[in-house]
Amino acid sequence: MDPIIGIDLGTTNSAAAHLGPDGPEIIPNALGGRLTPSVVGVDDAGTVLVGAAAKELQVLRPDRCAALFKRHMGTDRRYELGKKTFTPEELSGLVLRSLKDDAEAFFKRPVTRAVITCPAYFNDRQRKATLAAGRIAGLTVERILNEPTAAAIAYGFHETRTDRTFLVFDLGGGTFDVSVVQVFDGTLEVRASAGETSLGGEDFTRTMAARVLEGLGQSFERAEAVTPLLVSRLVQQCELAKRRLSKDDAAAVRVPDAAGEYGAKAAEVTITRQQLEGWVNPTLARCELPIRRALADTRLARDQIDEVILVGGATRMPVVVRLVADLFGKPPQGRLNPDEVVALGAAVQAGLVGRAGAVDDLVVTDVSPFTLGVEVSKRFGGDFQDGYFDPVIDRNTTIPTSRVKRYSTLHPNQTIISLKVYQGESRRVGENLLLGEFDVKGIPPGPVGQGVDVRFTYDLNGVLEVEATVVATKQKVTHVITKHAQGLNEQQVRAAVRAMETLKSHPREDAENRFLLARAERVFKELPADLRRLLSELLDGFEAALESQEPAAIEANREGLRQFLSRHDPDHEAEGDAEDAE
Ligand code: ADP
Ligand code: MG
Repeated sequence: MDPIIGIDLGTTNSAAAHLGPDGPEIIPNALGGRLTPSVVGVDDAGTVLVGAAAKELQVLRPDRCAALFKRHMGTDRRYELGKKTFTPEELSGLVLRSLKDDAEAFFKRPVTRAVITCPAYFNDRQRKATLAAGRIAGLTVERILNEPTAAAIAYGFHETRTDRTFLVFDLGGGTFDVSVVQVFDGTLEVRASAGETSLGGEDFTRTMAARVLEGLGQSFERAEAVTPLLVSRLVQQCELAKRRLSKDDAAAVRVPDAAGEYGAKAAEVTITRQQLEGWVNPTLARCELPIRRALADTRLARDQIDEVILVGGATRMPVVVRLVADLFGKPPQGRLNPDEVVALGAAVQAGLVGRAGAVDDLVVTDVSPFTLGVEVSKRFGGDFQDGYFDPVIDRNTTIPTSRVKRYSTLHPNQTIISLKVYQGESRRVGENLLLGEFDVKGIPPGPVGQGVDVRFTYDLNGVLEVEATVVATKQKVTHVITKHAQGLNEQQVRAAVRAMETLKSHPREDAENRFLLARAERVFKELPADLRRLLSELLDGFEAALESQEPAAIEANREGLRQFLSRHDPDHEAEGDAEDAE
């Protein structure tokens, strides 16, 4: 049987994993890394770069790179990179394709099937966009799995024989998700999910950069508009310093000049952990509301949570661990690497899809993260007022689920009912998201109150099917919610799949070379003249070797470059900060 992989398609970082004989394992990328930055760039030759190489390019050429595009999945947002335009789905598709290539190199055979995760808070449109990204990458998506559910699976909650309640606290680069998970009779059930789609470690990094600039009497917004290279450089510096501050008490940030270079007079600012914590605390405080909502939805008090699980790279910050410990009165669990947990859980789920026998102990259920319903009219006095939302499936109902509700005609001899399907938490449809609409025709003429049964069936991929049955005639109309005002339609997905085939990208064997070149370009700007000359020679030699396509020459020159960079790249030690959490 073909291998099925699990993929965490993250806002900041993505990872692939598979279920091996000893449990789930991360699949390394072409650079040997366990996480692949969710960054895409287009170099001067019009060739696409993905991952670490694109992240390097981003420092010097932010205009040619895209990041954080997961926040815009399913929207009309377009990205211009070089001469090419991309949708968020295509950019995600490129990240997925790179992970697929890594998995194929790992298994030494084609990999076409995957389980892909998304935040629990993703709406229907965003989930469809995730499915489209998978197809664009040439993957059959077996399941879209909520990230906190995946994390819960990685921790093997289902193996607990006693009934327990867990809370998954996932603070990544761009999103915050909280979920209440219960083990009940050896069954894993997600009872509630809540979250925020724009709260994460990137916000901390930007806050840090803004405070550093403010300290120098500059405004971040203005700097971003006027000196984007300074800002992209500074943000990169702050990202590294932020990570160091998870271990050390203080870290230095060099402030580049307007051109993004470090002149002889470059200011160096020392930031302490205490300062950073003071700056991020107001943002961190926003984590509390979703926690309260998730607990309220399950009618649980904080002290009824048996364990808290940390997920997401930003939970490596001591201040986050402290916050969680304070909120729940006990230290959280962090046995697994918080930025790998989701991919590991997706791999277990992939194993479940692939060879049910091996993990037949595991029953996973999930919840609908939002309320689904239809528009209704209400009668006040003699008048009908439309625009009201009538829930059919309540938020945090366990899925898959199927619910029926009966609606009836308002006017004599009414033969058509127009059904408008919405999702959201507001009483009025205007503030909720319209998912689709269709007409139920053929209602026999008669007095008011002719019934139509409306059945909502919501499956594990978050796809909603609406079926309406005219009570008098048993005639049915079915409508699968796939149409969106925004997002890609079927034709666009097919066009994107074709476009992907013609897109120039470097072969996987070339990944390390591209990464080294991009990194050397960045480092070059930071070096004094004598070292620049040296690096320039090394680069010339390396490029000549690449041109010659002689493996021995390439390896020799590559090694020289590697050694030079590890000695002279001041940002080196913080690269690939993937020490084990154990
Ligand atoms: P996502 O789920 O959004 O793709 P991750 O779970 O990989 O992201 O988390 C990425 C975020 O974690 C980034 O904002 C990064 O700065 C932050 N992060 C990673 N390692 C550390 C660390 N050691 N200390 C503080 N923040 C970290
Ligand atoms: Mg994540």
